[in-house]
Amino acid sequence: MRNVVLLGPPGAGKGTVASRLVREFGFLHVSTGDMLREEVARGTPLGQLAQGYMARGELVPDEVILSLVRQRVDAQKGVLFDGFPRTVAQAEGLERFTSVDVVVFLEVERDEVVRRLSSRRVCGTCGAVYNLVTQPPREPGKCDRCGGALIQREDDKPEVVARRFEVYMRDSAPLVAYYERRGILRRVRADLPPEDVFRAVAEALR
Ligand SMILES: [Zn+2]
Repeated sequence: MRNVVLLGPPGAGKGTVASRLVREFGFLHVSTGDMLREEVARGTPLGQLAQGYMARGELVPDEVILSLVRQRVDAQKGVLFDGFPRTVAQAEGLERFTSVDVVVFLEVERDEVVRRLSSRRVCGTCGAVYNLVTQPPREPGKCDRCGGALIQREDDKPEVVARRFEVYMRDSAPLVAYYERRGILRRVRADLPPEDVFRAVAEALR
């Protein structure tokens, strides 16, 4: 079984692709974001350490992330790394205990990301999520579930989305170049319908 890294800016549909890969190909899903939240919730020593960094608004150090990933990696099963590695140092650390066979980079234009994410609305009362383009509420501005008012989160405002995209592309460029040099990077267009994106990803994994 092969180990895969999934990269892509916010709004590229990484979550959708990841959950389908896990379901259809049986990957072990390693999401460092989820794992950190679990460790914090369980109050483990690692969780307490990580929480300290996050509370100070600092990045959790590479060594902490790597030890978290290391305890989860299973030699028997292909792993899908999601949200990790984030830096070249993490990528090098990962290779000290397991191999990476394919890196899929979901590519999407900034304007498309802005269009997708800025059409997201959430219910201010119950938190239900809508999308004005792909999943609109039955009645404009009103939650189907509880009738609450739909609002746009600060994070989803066009200028904030554009900024998050730029930051992601800038920060991940060295990582993309690193995997490109090793000849294992596969670029997949993520601005197509979800079905086509998934087919292209599955193709890239062959
Ligand atoms: Zn609601």
